[in-house]
Parts: sequence; C-alpha cells; structure tokens
Amino acid sequence: MLIPKPDTFAAAPVSTDPAECWLAQARRAQAVVDLPAGLAAALAAAQSRPNPHQAIEAGLLACHFHYRLGQFDPLIALGEPLQAGLQQDGWQAERRELIQALTLAAADTGRFDLAMTWAAEACNLAEAASDAGQQALALGLMAACFERMGDPWQAERLMRVALAHAERCGAGQPLALTLNDLATVALGGYHLLRDLTPDEAAALLGRAEDCARRAQTLWPQGTDPFFALQTAGNLAEVLVHRGALAEAGPVLAEALALALKHRHGALVWRLQCIRAESLIRCDRAAEARDLLHQVDADAGAALPMSTRFRLHQTLYRACRSLGQVDKALAQLERYEQLQRERGARQLRAQSVQLVTRVEADHERQAARIARAHAALMTVHAGQDALTGLGNRRHLDSHLPRLLAATRARPLALAMVDIDSFKLINDRHGHLCGDRVLVAVAQLLRENTRSADLLARIGGEEFIIVLPDMPPERALEACERLRERICNHPWSPLAEGLDVTVSIGLTSAPPYEATVLYDRADRALYHAKQGGRNRVQAFSPV
Ligand code: GH3
Ligand code: MG
Ligand code: MG
Repeated sequence: MLIPKPDTFAAAPVSTDPAECWLAQARRAQAVVDLPAGLAAALAAAQSRPNPHQAIEAGLLACHFHYRLGQFDPLIALGEPLQAGLQQDGWQAERRELIQALTLAAADTGRFDLAMTWAAEACNLAEAASDAGQQALALGLMAACFERMGDPWQAERLMRVALAHAERCGAGQPLALTLNDLATVALGGYHLLRDLTPDEAAALLGRAEDCARRAQTLWPQGTDPFFALQTAGNLAEVLVHRGALAEAGPVLAEALALALKHRHGALVWRLQCIRAESLIRCDRAAEARDLLHQVDADAGAALPMSTRFRLHQTLYRACRSLGQVDKALAQLERYEQLQRERGARQLRAQSVQLVTRVEADHERQAARIARAHAALMTVHAGQDALTGLGNRRHLDSHLPRLLAATRARPLALAMVDIDSFKLINDRHGHLCGDRVLVAVAQLLRENTRSADLLARIGGEEFIIVLPDMPPERALEACERLRERICNHPWSPLAEGLDVTVSIGLTSAPPYEATVLYDRADRALYHAKQGGRNRVQAFSPV
C-alpha cells in the first residue's frame, strides 16, 4: 500500500516519528470531524511501524472513523482482534467504547450472535465496575440487539431497566444516549408490529417522540455530533410518521446536511429513507422511489439491516402510490424475505447464546463437582470413616514432616490398642464394637492437645504423636488417658461392657518414623504381656 507523506502542521510539535505524525493528524481530524481524512491518517499510522501503544491508538482511531462513516464490515474486521488485545489495564474506557461500536455494527449487519456476545461482555464489564451509567449503556446495547433482531418487546423491557440506571446518573451523556435508544426501540416497534390499532401506533410514536425530545435537550455541549444526529433522525422519523411534515422538514434537512457533510454513511441512508417517506406523504412518490433506488445502489450490501427494512417498506408504499402494483408486491416480497432471514439469524444467535450459556453452566457445574470431589477425596484419603481420626496414610504423610520440624526437641509416640476387643465384638456385637471405637477415638481427642497427631491405624489400634513432650510427661499423659478410658461409663453402650486399653510408648530421638513405630509396638507387646490395661514405655532390654 502506498503511504502518503504526513502533512506538516505549524502548530503541532514536529516529530520525526512517522507513526506519531500520522496519529497527530488523525487526532486533529477527529477533533474537526473530518472522518475520511482521519481514517486515512489512522490507517497510515498503523502502517508506519508504530510502537505497540501507537498501534493500539491507530487501531482505535480507525475504528472510531469506520463506525461513524458507517463502514461496519471493516470496523468489525479491525475491531474484533483489537478489543481482545485491550483487556490489560489502562484501556478499559477505550475497550468499552469499542465494544459499543462493535455491538451496534454487528447488530446492524445481522451478525446477531457476535452482537449478543459483545453486549453480554459490556454488561459484565459494567456490572464489575458497578457504574450505573455504564450499566445503562450496556443494557441499551442488549436492547438494541433485540430491537434489530425484531423483538421490540424484549428491547423495550431492557430499555426500561437501562433508563432507571441512567436516571440515577443525572442529566449526562448516558441519559441522553439511553433516551435516544428508547426512541429507536419505540420506532422499531412501530415499524415492526403489524395490525397496530391507530391508538397503539400513536402511543408508540408518542413515546418515541417524548424520548427523542428529552434526549435532544440533554446532549452536552461539544458532544460528538454523531450522537445528536441520531436523535435528530429519530425525531424527524416520528414527526414524518405522525404527519407533522412542516416541523419534520427543517429537522430532517438540517440532520441530512450535517450527516452528508460528515459522511456518516449509514446515517445518511437512514435519513434519506425518512425523507422518501415524507415525499410520499407530499404526493411526490416518484421522487421518493428514485431516491430510494439511489440509496439502494449507493449502499449495496453495506446498508444496515434495519435501514433495509425501512427501504423496502417505503419503496413498497411509493410504488403503491404510483399504481405500480407488481413493483410494490416485489418490494413486499423482498421485505418478507428479509424478515425470514432475520428470524433465522435471530434463532441461530439465540441458540448459540443458549448453547454457550448451557455449556458454560455445565462447565461451571462440572468444575464445582470436581473441586468438591477433590476436597472430599483429600479429606477422605486421609481420614478414617468410622472415627473421623486420621488414618494410616494421614499419619505417614504427616509424621515425617513433624519429625523434621521437631528435630532437637523431644517427641513422644504412643501406640494404643483396645484390650480383648475381639471379645467385646463377640459378646456385644460388632455394632457395639464400632461404638466403642468411636467412643475411644473421642476420648483420645478430648485428652490430647490440638498439636498432637491422632490416627487410627488398624482395627482397634491408634497412634498418638505428642510433639514437644519429654518422655516422663508423655508417660503421665498416657497414664491419664488409660485411666480415663478405663473409668469411662461404658455400660450405657452395653450392659456389663468394660473397655480398657494398653499403650506402648516411645520417644524421639531417634527422629525416624519406622524406628518409633517398631519401638512403640514392642512396648505395647510388653504391656499386653504384663496383663493389659497398662502403659509401657519402650526400653531396649
Ligand atoms: P488384644 O487385647 O491382644 O489386643 O486382643 P484383641 O481381641 O483386641 O486383638 P485381636 O487383634 O485378636 O482382635 C482385634 C479385633 O478387632 C478383630 C477384629 O474383628 C476387630 N475389628 C477390627 N476392625 C474392626 C472394626 O472396624 N469394627 C469392629 N467392631 N471390630 C473390628
Ligand atoms: Mg486389641
Ligand atoms: Mg490389635
């Protein structure tokens, strides 16, 4: 591509960086609303080896100009990857604005699935920012999607919520934009809904007019004229359809002149459709028909879908006024065809949205279950289901760490075994045996410190690890524990039940789990040999 040399501006700081020169030119064009020059400069900046920051600014400016020139396809092609790259900090406001333009461009070109995705993203961003103005604009975008998809009811419902948000921000740009959108939605309903009674039609037009007039008083000074022009277009359209042609005339003429001057392509086409409608109502149907054919030829495939609906509708009326029945019917047929196409696209978009949502819900659900499962598994993996104490695995994974951390400090390890447990099972039943295990576990818990490690390592065998516990104090603690178990009132569990334990006790050093287990086991063996219901400390002999 041949890149023109940037102009030199006397007032602008001279830069030797070509990308910067082009950007400066694009910014100036933006300020004076010279859209074609601005677009050329922004595209040239993007081609002049910009640094990453300059590349983003060039892209944003190009999107700004494309949007206002009504060039929706290039806007989407450029803006879609650009917005994805703007997710890092520092570009939020720009990204929001870009998403707005992209949503409307996608909706206007019938790419409803894209439009809905972006509108949903705008809603998410606004919600995350908890900013009423942003929420109003985002809901307005969603409403615009529904209006373009031919669902004015849903659009109007959303717009009411948007209006409530916007009114909380006072009389600023969000309120003006929201009122303007409400006017658009009411007009959309007026055009779309068939078999309206005259009262219903008047009510819709009345609402559109109120909103457009309120919006008109609200545009702050110095706002981008593009937005005020949309409001003027809405007002003109209402006035024409209400038959207030005298008032509509100047509003429409001024808007059209300004839109032509700034080359707001899509807006110009729409205003020309409104003008054609007013011509029909002044018995100038032939002029209207020619004007509309001209619009059709100029715009071609770039004509936004909502304007194409207006175009065929108005052409139908023009041909009918001229007595050209076949041509009128042909326009009606094209209108119906467009309606079917829009319906199909709407269904596709909504089913894509639905599928995406269902998929997302499923994914979230599956992730939740997986997390819960993992959490439960980690608990269960280390936990004894009957007593809730740690199990062997828990002990094996924790004891080495505890030993490593306690080095040079004393640590005691006790092996606790219920005496003649087999007999308890035999006499009182297995269920009673289980209850004894649970009760013993509870007594162990109650008579140890939170820092102590407790585990059930076998049928009726438990381990207690007592960190920072010198041997003599460990012996006292185990003795107390043995007594508590022995003196516990067991008869409520089973008539004549008595439970005692034998305890084998050993101490670190050595700080080695297998040695400690072995010594405790040997001590326990001696305790059993010694007559049970006793504590035996390990001794090498
Ligand atoms: P000792 O005094 O020598 O320890 O005799 P004991 O009967 O306690 O020892 P033994 O190892 O012979 O028997 C242990 C019994 O514990 C055998 C087994 O049926 C029972 N047992 C193991 N796990 C459970 C359990 O989860 N619930 C119940 N109720 N009994 C169990
Ligand atoms: Mg036993
Ligand atoms: Mg045993």
